Amino acid sequence: MYVMGRSRGHDTTGHLWVEEGDQQERMIAEVAPVVPGGRTYSFTVPEALEGSLTVGQRVMVPLGRRGRLVEGFVVGLDRRVWDSTLRPVDSVVDPVSFLTPDLIELGREIARHYACPLGRTLKAITPEAVRRQRGLKTVRYARLIQAADRILASGKRISEKRRAIVERLAGATEALRVDRLLAEAQVSPAVLRAMVREGWVEVITRKEVIAEEPFDQPLTEPAFQLNEEQRRALKTINAEIDANRFSVTLLFGVSGSGKTEVYIHAIRRVVASGKQAILLVPEIVLTTQLVGRLAARFSDVAVSHSGLTDVQRSLIWRQVATGDKKVIIGTRSAVFAPCPNLGLICVDEEQETSYKNLQAPRFNVRDVAIMRAQQAGIPVVLGSATPLIETWYHSEQRSDYRRIMILRRVRDLPMPKVYIVDMRDEFIEQKRVVVLSRLMKKLLAETLHRGEQAVLLMNRRGFANRIYCPACKTRITCPNCSVNLVVHSTRGESICHYCRSRIETPTVCPNVTCREKLIQTGTGTQRVEDVLAKLFPEVRIERVDSDTMRHREQYRRIVDDFEARKIDVLVGTQMIAKGLDFPFVSFVGVIHADTSALAGDFRAQERLFQLITQVAGRAGRADVPGQVVVQTTTPAFPVLRYALKHDYQSFAAEELQMRRRVGLPPFRRLARIVLAHPREETARREAVSMAQRICEVIESTSLRYADVLGPTPCMLSRLRGRYRYDLLLRTANASSMRQLIGHLEQSKALNTKADSIIIDVDPVSLT
Ligand SMILES: [Zn+2]
Ligand SMILES: [Zn+2]
Repeated sequence: MYVMGRSRGHDTTGHLWVEEGDQQERMIAEVAPVVPGGRTYSFTVPEALEGSLTVGQRVMVPLGRRGRLVEGFVVGLDRRVWDSTLRPVDSVVDPVSFLTPDLIELGREIARHYACPLGRTLKAITPEAVRRQRGLKTVRYARLIQAADRILASGKRISEKRRAIVERLAGATEALRVDRLLAEAQVSPAVLRAMVREGWVEVITRKEVIAEEPFDQPLTEPAFQLNEEQRRALKTINAEIDANRFSVTLLFGVSGSGKTEVYIHAIRRVVASGKQAILLVPEIVLTTQLVGRLAARFSDVAVSHSGLTDVQRSLIWRQVATGDKKVIIGTRSAVFAPCPNLGLICVDEEQETSYKNLQAPRFNVRDVAIMRAQQAGIPVVLGSATPLIETWYHSEQRSDYRRIMILRRVRDLPMPKVYIVDMRDEFIEQKRVVVLSRLMKKLLAETLHRGEQAVLLMNRRGFANRIYCPACKTRITCPNCSVNLVVHSTRGESICHYCRSRIETPTVCPNVTCREKLIQTGTGTQRVEDVLAKLFPEVRIERVDSDTMRHREQYRRIVDDFEARKIDVLVGTQMIAKGLDFPFVSFVGVIHADTSALAGDFRAQERLFQLITQVAGRAGRADVPGQVVVQTTTPAFPVLRYALKHDYQSFAAEELQMRRRVGLPPFRRLARIVLAHPREETARREAVSMAQRICEVIESTSLRYADVLGPTPCMLSRLRGRYRYDLLLRTANASSMRQLIGHLEQSKALNTKADSIIIDVDPVSLT
């Protein structure tokens, strides 16, 4: 006999049946809800869902005392003895699962490493468009229920319209699309509805894929062959592919050395063996173009980048999951492509900060690629001309790392000549602050005179970035953030680039007792453009920064015009340093190479080295030798000396020494905790007390080399009206960081009255 199971304050749906007096086995689902807190919960699976519910599927489950329904992911299913206190799964959200068991396992790893709840992590792994099933539409089909001849022979009087429908349906071997049927028979939907009501016709709905957009482009193969160094690199990677085991290969190649060709050949080998490969590229304005060029080298390729429509994104996911697409090229989310048979992952420009996710889970795609390769037991290739210091170090130290060097540019192009100009000397000799040094002007003039092109990098937007009062030294900052406002002279307004506030640029000191006229200083891209236009009135100049480039298309047009030599000089922020390749650029100027903008961030030197190398790599790529002028007020910085000689290895060696001395990555692991609150005192107090609790927890554990630094006000000490303090956790390695965060969560040391708390494991920026 069956009785209703005892319920505990929740609605029993009738699914909760249990055999009296003895325990019964049931299907139990382990669900990771999309809520704060890292737990998973068990639920019983209603009989109606048994057999159809799969791991990875999204469901609604009751949580908390009131049984509030929340979304969650099924992460485990098994049949076991039923505990009558369990509540049932309420309903399913998606008819199918979008996550493979591999991806769920990867999600668990990411959740653990980045201290993010599993449900939230799994949600981040599945693209929004896929979750919403974009790309599928509901199509209605009609078919006859009663045999047509019976209807026609019944002698019933039948209208012309109905007859038209019956005849068409009777003549078809399978159900017909309703929209086409109605159009052909020239009848209204009401006629069909009546026929359905009276039991003549049945209408069935099906989910169908919206007409597929072609991703495969005609294959285009460049004429050149791999050179000796590229062939050697490929041989090493091929050996790893054939060995079919986990390894990390750093493909270190100077800019213009043809790393991309090496990836392409390696990927083809993987595909030839029947497996799939992922090629990750950083998110830059030109991603679409870059990906397009790469895609033209493969058949069965799926491309995924931010320029796609939801429908395309959703289709790609499905085609990859079925194994139809063998090569996946894309930005961040491509690392989660649901490949059933993955053989290789390549990460181009592995040092790029755009690989870091800026919301929880704050994963770095480069590191996720390594995690995924490790789980799948496959090789991963990291390519860069300026690898992360961590990657370089591991490639020297670890047995599962390989390192391949390509030190010559393709076709033996010479490296550009780099000059450093000390802008302090320039100030003394010209007796004023100038934007362009004499050497910069001279070489630029010569370049333009020869009919060649130039690129000038100014890593700040706007016209000026400091407004101050010369009398009382009042500085004009954003009303919400502790940063200078950037003056945009063309619009007569000033903008905070953090909170996007706009105010009319003040001209007199706001200090009522002063009222002096304000001064604007600090160079931005607009001022550089201004100076250039006065200096070279004949020259065609375009400015590229996020102020002028509101749309991808604008950027695209400028790139095309520059390529077609309709523009002589491009002035821009680091947007112009990435992913461009122009054969007629022979001069590159870096207007203001300074680490001060990144002061306090231990990666400042590394970033500056990367930026100079990247932009210098734009010079002299074809048959025109390149020249680079770097203007700075800190020429003694070792980073500039090494950049001058294109000497990454010595730079890395010196940087590593420093990091070992002060205990920074790769020698220690970092996690940053940021607390914010509208009241400064609360933010500070909460940070201080959290630091104390963390210290106590660390003391109670046996973790070696674990400590907490801070609290200190963040470099951006106020943002969008909230004061920010940060703490830095340091441990010996990743696994002790996980342990430490685990201990902190258990002991509730991370609970806070602050408005918000961010935990950023392996931060890429400390601002
Ligand atoms: Zn003043
Ligand atoms: Zn602001």
